[in-house]
Amino acid sequence: RCLKLNSVSRVCSAPDENEGTQNIRLLQWNILSQTLGQHNDGFVRCPEEALTWQHRKYLIVQEILQNQPDVVCLQEVDHFKFLQTVLGSQNYAGIFFPKPDSPCLYIEQNNGPDGCAIFYKRDKLQLLGYDTRILEVWRVQSNQVAIAARLQLKSSGKEFCVCTTHLKARHGALLAKLRNEQGRDLIRFVKQFAGGSPLLLCGDFNAEPVEPIYATILGCDLFKLSSAYADMQLEREREREREREQDREQQFTSSCEDPNEFISQSIKREPPYTTWKIREDGEECHTIDYVFYTPQQLKIKNCLEFPAGEQIGKNRTPSFQYPSDHFSLVCDFELLDDPRSEG
Ligand code: NDP
Ligand code: CA
Repeated sequence: RCLKLNSVSRVCSAPDENEGTQNIRLLQWNILSQTLGQHNDGFVRCPEEALTWQHRKYLIVQEILQNQPDVVCLQEVDHFKFLQTVLGSQNYAGIFFPKPDSPCLYIEQNNGPDGCAIFYKRDKLQLLGYDTRILEVWRVQSNQVAIAARLQLKSSGKEFCVCTTHLKARHGALLAKLRNEQGRDLIRFVKQFAGGSPLLLCGDFNAEPVEPIYATILGCDLFKLSSAYADMQLEREREREREREQDREQQFTSSCEDPNEFISQSIKREPPYTTWKIREDGEECHTIDYVFYTPQQLKIKNCLEFPAGEQIGKNRTPSFQYPSDHFSLVCDFELLDDPRSEG
């Protein structure tokens, strides 16, 4: 159902009506802060006009609305009121939590601090409660935040939780360690909030799959979490195998007993990039955005693929075509029946 789309926009086709009630479509996206993108990032190959809010705001809204997500998790939001107004008119309600010391505030032409936001479709979902967190590193507050929300499907009464975050940026071993600590705090926060409910945990983790935080999340004792895009890739590999009528299912099993093997298999199956940009110091093309989920309670049904290099163009992103340097991740999940409530 997810389409790799043409060069104009990336769209995931509408969910099947007949299987709608247990399905949740999540859109995860670092939309690029207007203030940082225009005045701080140094996207040397992006035309200035493409970076104006006047140009970008329509593309951002278009991409969100075209995909018809039930839940939208955004990072680097510094135009929350605009999004709330526009998405509000399309039946979404939203929550915003700014970074305590947003770098936007140090730039003269800012539009307020940037932060994370969660929007949800009001006609399908009921907000039961939410919490916010300034992530701690060695018990000291950092500049990174998270939002967790408990949502209920109006049709079935079933509940699930969504949590989103934007972890510390930049390279280096110390920063990777810091991100790992933020991840540990994030897990503690979301475990306390969600308890045993089905969970979608997504965001810009600013960490490639080989960084310690990835294994921290997938190997954590409090939750069994899995990565949506990696699992979808596994499913596609299985499908191809089935088509070849070779029963090598064993080789592709994701529910392997050895946690280290499970993590290294997942790392291999992450997409090649979720962000692709050129700054003065060179080109960056890597995977740092993720959608994690609890596979015992949710089934990943489809993921929106990313445009290929030729579609993106040699100047990469942002561009007149792509308003952010990150691509949106769109995932279709099915909420599974709780085995505890059966029989
Ligand atoms: P982060 O390191 O997490 O990064 C902030 C933003 O910069 C992110 O949105 C990130 O985007 C983007 N970014 C990443 N790499 C680059 C790059 N190479 N060039 C330009 N931008 C990049 O910052 P913190 O939130 O921890 O904030 C930094 C701190 O610095 C704040 O606490 C603030 O006090 C301070 N500050 C002070 C300033 C001053 O003038 N005194 C100015 C700015 C900040 P992505 O996540 O997409 O990679
Ligand atoms: Ca950024």
